[in-house]
Amino acid sequence: KLENATLKAELGRATWKFLHTMAARFPENPTASDRTALETFIHLFGRLYPCGDCARHFRQLLAEYPPQTSSRNAAAGWMCFAHNLVNERLDKEIFDCNNIGDFYDCGCGEEGKEGAK
Ligand code: FAD
Repeated sequence: KLENATLKAELGRATWKFLHTMAARFPENPTASDRTALETFIHLFGRLYPCGDCARHFRQLLAEYPPQTSSRNAAAGWMCFAHNLVNERLDKEIFDCNNIGDFYDCGCGEEGKEGAK
C-alpha cells in the first residue's frame, strides 16, 4: 500500500499527545514497579508502534538514550527530549522543555494523592 503522510502525521500527533500526557501523570515518587512498568511500556512501544520506520528510529534512540523514570519530572523531561530528537530528524521546530509543566493536562478530573492533574 502507498504511504500516506497525512495519516502518518495524524497518528504521530495523537501518539505524542498520549505519551506526554502519560509522562505528566507518572508518579512524582515512583516505586520500583512503576519505573519498570514505564520502561517496559516504552520498549514495547518501540517494538509495536505501527509506523515501522518510525519505530526503528525510535529503537535506535532508546539504545542511545535510555528512558528516565526516577520521577515525574525525569519522565516528562525525557519524553520531551526524545520528541525533540525526532523533531530534529524531521526538520521540525524544537520545543522548549522548560515549558512542559502544564502543557499536557489529562483532563481526567481526579486529583490523585500524587497531586496529579
Ligand atoms: P508533532 O511532532 O506530532 O507534535 C505535536 C505537538 O506536540 C506539537 O504541535 C507541539 O505542540 C508539541 N510538541 C512538539 N515537540 C514537543 C516536545 N519535544 N515535547 C512535548 N511536546 C512537543 N514521522 C515521520 O514522518 N517519520 C518518522 O520517522 C517518525 N517517527 C516517529 C516516531 C515516534 C515515536 C512518533 C510518536 C512519531 C513519529 N513520527 C514520524 C511522526 C512525527 O513525529 C509527527 O508526529 C508528525 O509528523 C506530525 O507532526 P506535527 O508537526 O503535527 O507535530
